[in-house]
Amino acid sequence: MPPSVTAARPRVVVVGAGFGGLEAARKLARSPVDVTVIDRHNYHLFQPLLYQVATAALSPADIAEPIRVVLRHQQNATVLLDEVIGVDTTARRVETRFGAAQSYDYLVLATGSQYAYFGHSDWPRLAPGLKSIDDATLIRRRVLLAFEEAETMTDPAIRKRLLAHILLVEAGPRVLSGFPDKLAAFARRSLERMGVEVLPDRPIEAIDQNGVLAGGERIEAANVIWCAGVEASPVARWLGAPAGKGGRIRVAPDLSIPGHPEIFVIGDAAFVTGPNGEPLPGLAPVAKQQGQYVGELIARHFRGVPAPPPFRYRDEGALATIGRHSAIADLGWLRLTGWAAWILWGVVHIFFLIGFRNRMAVFLNWIWAWLTYGRGARLITGDTTPLALTAKSATRAIPVESRNEGTPDGRQGESALFRD
Ligand SMILES: Cc1cc2nc3c(=O)[nH]c(=O)nc-3n(C[C@H](O)[C@H](O)[C@H](O)COP(=O)(O)OP(=O)(O)OC[C@H]3O[C@@H](n4cnc5c(N)ncnc54)[C@H](O)[C@@H]3O)c2cc1C
Repeated sequence: MPPSVTAARPRVVVVGAGFGGLEAARKLARSPVDVTVIDRHNYHLFQPLLYQVATAALSPADIAEPIRVVLRHQQNATVLLDEVIGVDTTARRVETRFGAAQSYDYLVLATGSQYAYFGHSDWPRLAPGLKSIDDATLIRRRVLLAFEEAETMTDPAIRKRLLAHILLVEAGPRVLSGFPDKLAAFARRSLERMGVEVLPDRPIEAIDQNGVLAGGERIEAANVIWCAGVEASPVARWLGAPAGKGGRIRVAPDLSIPGHPEIFVIGDAAFVTGPNGEPLPGLAPVAKQQGQYVGELIARHFRGVPAPPPFRYRDEGALATIGRHSAIADLGWLRLTGWAAWILWGVVHIFFLIGFRNRMAVFLNWIWAWLTYGRGARLITGDTTPLALTAKSATRAIPVESRNEGTPDGRQGESALFRD
């Protein structure tokens, strides 16, 4: 059972300072509890703009904010940099990789999701996903390295291969399956006008250093980027609870786990169905609303007021940007395409970024990029070894295995390829 309202300074441990975890912690700012936020990074990351780091439009620091800065005015909050590796539900303790175990009265698990490679352990190395700053800078490096290499090649075929033609390979029949048909069709036409080749109905069957096999067709590519499929972080394993689709934990209507009213799972890690019986999507607004709900529920307990009614998601719509001045927006009561949707997309993303500095930096970078067509963050960081696959016929080719690129910890159904 949750602690009684008379216990001295009960402890709420929040694991994960993403969209869900931060909201839960903030909701408890005025409650008579000690809040401990544990994250394996010391920053909150605005993942929806990661692709702009990968494509050199923004710098990593523009889309991330130190957790301590976000919570600096919250007197009852402590921030710990550590990785959670398990939960002892009997002793009510969170096990961490480096520091001491953390005991809790209430536990909020908000550890998000990671890319799923459908059991292919070698694919993350060949086709990085886009989930972290490391992933984004790795993709940026690989794409920029391909351009640099093209500069040194004399063979026109190799140069052409390196100067990126983009193919979007999709296992399903269309792109952006979460959007209505008309909006998705608009998105596809916009992509094709920009020169992107969209290849639907082509599940990826194999990936190697020189490209992919998709729907029975061999596609040569200098860079392969994996955006196909996610699975929840290993919360189910920690709790010894059965995992649902995509490894997500099926939670009670108040987002607690069955048998443990003191443990909540929120955001991408939780399996929750909406009023239509369909699972709620892995989106930032879902995680944020769930974090606010759980924070409020715990706060109410200590105020001695009744718990809120079961969680209900308020769907305020979905947006997707496509290019320089093209986007789609489905607000339920209003659907927009093109310029109007693009302006709305920009305003919403600036608004939801954490921190005034980040909002200003992103706004100014976008204005600059829009006016000049420039990409200010075109830095190749880390290993500058030429891409072995692009230089396979050159004498300085180096096997991919010998490069120090790390393994991404790896979104839904699409892979982007750059090829000749
Ligand atoms: C490239 C990309 C683009 C996206 N675009 C959009 C978009 O346009 N709109 C939208 O609504 N959503 C978008 N999303 C989805 C959205 O980012 C997620 O749904 C949202 O981040 C989920 O929030 P969360 O709190 O569950 O997890 P997250 O925000 O992922 O936070 C999880 C936190 O837990 C920490 N963590 C994980 N494991 C551990 C551990 N073992 N120990 C300690 N800490 C841990 C992580 O470091 C992270 O800080 C996008 C996601 C990606 C990857």
